[in-house]
Amino acid sequence: MAENFDVIVIGGGPGGYVAAIRCAQLGLNTACIDDQSNKEGKPSLGGTCLNVGCIPSKALLDSSEQYHRLQHQFSAHGITAENVSMDVTKMQQRKAEIVSSLTGGIGVLFKANKVTSIYGRGRLMAENHVAVLDPESGELSQTISAPNIILATGSKPVELPSIPFDGEFIVDSTGALDFDRVPSRLGVIGAGVIGLELGSVWNRLGSEVVLLEAMDEFLAAADHQIARDAARQFKKQGLDIRLGAMVKKVSSTPNGLQLSYTQKGEEHSIEVDRVVVAVGRKPATEGLLAADCEVSLDNRGFIEVDDHCQTAETGVWAIGDAVRGPMLAHKSSEEGVAVAERIAGGFGHVDFNTVPWVIYTAPEIAWVGKTENELKADGIPVKTGVFPFAATGRAKAMEDTAGMVKVIAHAETDRVLGVHIIGPHVSELIAECVVAMSFHASSEDLARIVHAHPTLSEAVHEAALAVEKRAIHKFG
Ligand code: FAD
Ligand code: NAD
Repeated sequence: MAENFDVIVIGGGPGGYVAAIRCAQLGLNTACIDDQSNKEGKPSLGGTCLNVGCIPSKALLDSSEQYHRLQHQFSAHGITAENVSMDVTKMQQRKAEIVSSLTGGIGVLFKANKVTSIYGRGRLMAENHVAVLDPESGELSQTISAPNIILATGSKPVELPSIPFDGEFIVDSTGALDFDRVPSRLGVIGAGVIGLELGSVWNRLGSEVVLLEAMDEFLAAADHQIARDAARQFKKQGLDIRLGAMVKKVSSTPNGLQLSYTQKGEEHSIEVDRVVVAVGRKPATEGLLAADCEVSLDNRGFIEVDDHCQTAETGVWAIGDAVRGPMLAHKSSEEGVAVAERIAGGFGHVDFNTVPWVIYTAPEIAWVGKTENELKADGIPVKTGVFPFAATGRAKAMEDTAGMVKVIAHAETDRVLGVHIIGPHVSELIAECVVAMSFHASSEDLARIVHAHPTLSEAVHEAALAVEKRAIHKFG
């Protein structure tokens, strides 16, 4: 007979592991199945985010930024250093240690919360059963059942059919996190979040980086004013971003790889040593559903759910990257908590209007809510306030003055509809704006709140004041 649980979670990423812990906290007997293993072949919880996503990328972004600052920015503080070098092996070891301590920590949290952790590949069968398969052989190892099942299988990198990954020279984000030396010339296909973050890492360490972006517009999802400033900053750093570039093929040459692409109808090619393909991610749902279960996938492979993450089959829920909405770790986790609460008979809710976005480049880019362009397209009357970090004492003291804060409010009600920031530590500053929007604040509310001096948060305060043209440290 199949072992029975109250809840089975398939997938141990930030969606699945958080859902499992919250279910257990609510008194539900919970199992979490995950198939991810590390380089030593040992099970490694935490999904894409902890193993090959958010955490290792931020570790490398931090190491490379320290190196870059030491070389290019410390002299302004009067600090000089000779013979500065980068030990890539040590940098990668540090990254691996951070990953292993965090992924191991999930195992500890599971034990403490009495979540049953199962290493294997889960497949949803009919009547609330789950088959657990060996991830390597695909053989059935056990069958378990539960009245509630949460599908949290995440996503995988998109592979371009004409440019298949070879694991060494043509790689996805996982490969680009693992280079053992700095490539002299790096080609990145796709100037989205991953392209910009990982392109920045290797650029700061000395690679000549060319990003080939299919769209004519740079960072189309961001506010136009912020995207324009970002493009300027990245250009200054030496990132060569070519828009409207359709890559056709990659071929080997005696000196490396030739990337052939068309731009404005003209044929071009560049020679590089390695290629990173970062053209988006797709849901990891292949083989997840047995033929006789009622859960449906859309034409792109996403699990179809309603606003409450409920699938077409009673008792089966789906969350995170495998369903509609932004592919972000915090969105996955919040959906996991909301579903756990619903299963336990409570109330769960995720406000999609206030999910923050952060791009961890330097300067960082962060936003919450709608862009000015989106609001104008929707016919919503807006007023905006912009304030540059260069006019704040703290940014000057830090020698980090690039960027600005832009607050967008409804022209009539003054309700804050979006905040868009580019600048130092804005991944932290955006939290205040998320709180403000969650509590339906007006720009006047933000303007009336006391902000400590001297802090970067004063730029948020001044941008809110600027909505009514009353910023103190700015003309006009
Ligand atoms: P995942 O994290 O993908 O976890 C799914 C898990 O389920 C995986 O372990 C997978 O192996 C397992 N699985 C799949 N199928 C099965 C099955 N049938 N049986 C058992 N297990 C299965 N997001 C941010 O918010 N901030 C960032 O800074 C950020 N940086 C990123 C950097 C990179 C390089 C990448 C690639 C992604 C980044 N993301 C970031 C996105 C983030 O990683 C994802 O949004 C997040 O991991 C999604 O969580 P999830 O739980 O839905 O899925
Ligand atoms: P993305 O959607 O951010 O960017 C992909 C880019 O590739 C787009 O600009 C797209 O126009 C371009 N593109 C698509 N096909 C192309 C082609 N054939 N040639 C050239 N360009 C092409 O996707 P991503 O950068 O792969 O990241 C995937 C997801 O992972 C993101 O959407 C995000 O949700 C998540 N992520 C988040 C963070 C973060 O929160 N800081 C970091 C990394 C990844």
